[in-house]
Amino acid sequence: MGDIKRVAVLGSTGSIGRQTLEVISALPHRFSVIGLAAGRNTDLLAEQISQFQPKLVYSQNKAFSTSAGYEFLPLEAMASHPEVDIVVMATSGKWGLKPTLAAVKAGKRVALANKESLVMAGEIITREAKLSGAQLRPVDSEHSAIWQCLEGEKQKAARIILTASGGPFLHYSPPRLAKVTPEQALKHPSWRMGKKVTIDSATLMNKGLEVIEARWLFDMPFDNIRILIHPQSIVHSMVEFADGSVKAQLGQPDMRLPIQYALTYPERLENPQLPHLDWDNIKELTFEPPDFDSFPCLKLAIEAGKKGGTYPAVLCAADETAVELFLSKRIKFTDIPRLVGQALEEHKSIAHPTLEEILAADSQAGEKIKQMVGDNR
Ligand code: MG
Repeated sequence: MGDIKRVAVLGSTGSIGRQTLEVISALPHRFSVIGLAAGRNTDLLAEQISQFQPKLVYSQNKAFSTSAGYEFLPLEAMASHPEVDIVVMATSGKWGLKPTLAAVKAGKRVALANKESLVMAGEIITREAKLSGAQLRPVDSEHSAIWQCLEGEKQKAARIILTASGGPFLHYSPPRLAKVTPEQALKHPSWRMGKKVTIDSATLMNKGLEVIEARWLFDMPFDNIRILIHPQSIVHSMVEFADGSVKAQLGQPDMRLPIQYALTYPERLENPQLPHLDWDNIKELTFEPPDFDSFPCLKLAIEAGKKGGTYPAVLCAADETAVELFLSKRIKFTDIPRLVGQALEEHKSIAHPTLEEILAADSQAGEKIKQMVGDNR
């Protein structure tokens, strides 16, 4: 009984949260769910509560706060609760920032799927993790791949090669991209993911955010991080060493694998849910450089990351708002990079910002985008 790890899943009704609970269900002798936190999907949260019987619960819906049978508490308190062994940060957007920081300050093992935490506040989070001894375990498939490639190596990597599927619009020209619909953009060729990250994969903003994540997770200069388009999504990323040797991590595109590794590290466990590679049907693995002109979000993200300060927060907020406007058919697909670029250009950055300054830059940027498109709701 002693080695059953108690897991709190923040964002349990989202795509990563649901897949985390699938993995935990398959490994009941190793993990138990101590905490569940979700936003507005209250029906699913209620189902999860009755299935997993967590001790700690949070919901944006206040109706949950009056129920007996569990302790209702805010995200930050759950993330730093003394009985929690592993925190899975699966909330999306800036809402992940404060709970991630709380978990890190409490010295937890943090399985981090929330990109924004590292993109917006990578400097603060990595500094606090060093102070507290918290362990950041990447859940993003690319960063999990890099982490796995670095295991057992005594030296730092010379370069990181992030792979990208290229999304549903690979090889589209800008005029063709201007006409794509949300329905088309939501059909990702290889991955099962939430809506926001699926659109970000189509614009390649997702890959840009991942470059910034990699910079912080692996302390790697931006110029030593390279992106390669790999449409089969089998090679999840690669690491190049000083002698030119390259290590890659391969697997079926299934988020449950990186989720499980973040939970079981440094062990690897058999799980019948996890698909294995079918070598008889893998015909080819191809790689090509990305098209920075057709997918300007890539360049915008890398530039914002290099400049640092509050630029990455503006990048995230502007993108989040622009993606919402695209999904509600208020703007075109190609307006996403245009608006994000404009928000970055007009921003006056603060160097080494505090968390409050980061969150302020975030809300200002979201408002600015709405003003630009005349959204007065
Ligand atoms: Mg990824």
